[in-house]
Amino acid sequence: MPERSLSSAILGGAPEDWQGRPVWAEIDLDALQGNVRALRSYAGDARLMAIVKANGYGHGAVPVARAALEAGATELGVICLDEGVELRTAGIAASILILGHTPLAQAADVILHRLSPTVNSLQFGLALSAAAVKAGMVLPVQVKVDTGMARYGLRPDECVALAESLRELPGLVVEGVFTHFASADEPDQAFTHHQYAQFLDVVARLPWVPVRHAAASAALLGAPETMLDMVRAGIAMYGYAPAGGTGLGIRPALALKSRIARIHALTAGETVSYGRTWRAQRPTRVGLVMAGYADGVPRALSNRGQVLLRGRRVPIIGRVCMDQLIVDLNEVPEAKVDDIAVIIGTQGSDFIGAEEVARLSETISYEVLTGISARVPRLYVRGGRVVEVRTLVESATAARS
Ligand SMILES: *Cc1c(COP(=O)(O)O)cnc(C)c1O
Repeated sequence: MPERSLSSAILGGAPEDWQGRPVWAEIDLDALQGNVRALRSYAGDARLMAIVKANGYGHGAVPVARAALEAGATELGVICLDEGVELRTAGIAASILILGHTPLAQAADVILHRLSPTVNSLQFGLALSAAAVKAGMVLPVQVKVDTGMARYGLRPDECVALAESLRELPGLVVEGVFTHFASADEPDQAFTHHQYAQFLDVVARLPWVPVRHAAASAALLGAPETMLDMVRAGIAMYGYAPAGGTGLGIRPALALKSRIARIHALTAGETVSYGRTWRAQRPTRVGLVMAGYADGVPRALSNRGQVLLRGRRVPIIGRVCMDQLIVDLNEVPEAKVDDIAVIIGTQGSDFIGAEEVARLSETISYEVLTGISARVPRLYVRGGRVVEVRTLVESATAARS
């Protein structure tokens, strides 16, 4: 790493002064921690597991995990072994639950990194037990009930039987039992209550299991009676409510920004980008934005989406390319090269949320956020100042005062 890289040069400065790659994500750690505190107090006595899978929903798993724990999250949730190892390698000591399936061959690594797996078979339980005994440790594990999502987990009877078997194995302690709702973000909560009733039945049959949990963000906000001992907050922690407004004051933590790299004039009749899907009806000034679908700008925004420039909305014209997109600048004649183009986020009094981008590309905010790729630099901001930078090739962190 060079003595004074662009990443370390920006520490303590304003994110707009970033001189590195001209597409970046700004993660407002104040917003993220405010969201964690709001959810924590709303959840009352229930513990708060911060879900940081998929690189912290695109925000960066390690900085998000640290910030969430500092703000009151009690543990972390990931989907696979590697995501847990990334957190451990960064020195995070909190309890980490692997929510998804772990292959048998990874049992030894689960132990090595002190991760808590969700156990779905006795065979896996036996492998973990053997590895735990060998390492001289007691491993907390959890079991998952499929109450109607028909995804990961076991049917109620199988789940109870497995938990009873795991209870007998040396080196293991069954710390939790959980389920996941299929439609808690919908106005009709009948199916959620049906799933919840099945889950409570399992819980009643496993009275010795200490931690029972079911609610992710949607149920936490829309069916809070399902909170039990712990809630698993993903999207709400990042500032989005699966079913719209919450009144909790949570706010989006991430902005995706780029810069205009070239401005030029088209004459009437000229076309823009692949497939020539946009044609100038009149002389048009166009701006080149250095962000594309490989950065996480959905290609579905071609000829549909907008970006914020000088506080105004300008249309994306032609097809979004892998690394670049083009905007119509006719309504913003004062636009200049190096102006910031906001793809997700606030500029002036306007805001484009991940939800708006998702609606235009017929998906959900989750997919838009997790689609922000590894090559997009992440700038972490507190009090308006950059405190940490992570790019594909380097990272820099300011000393905490
Ligand atoms: C991803 C996930 C969550 C978090 O869901 P959100 O809707 O983002 O809150 C919770 N539980 C499980 C099992 C998950 O896979």
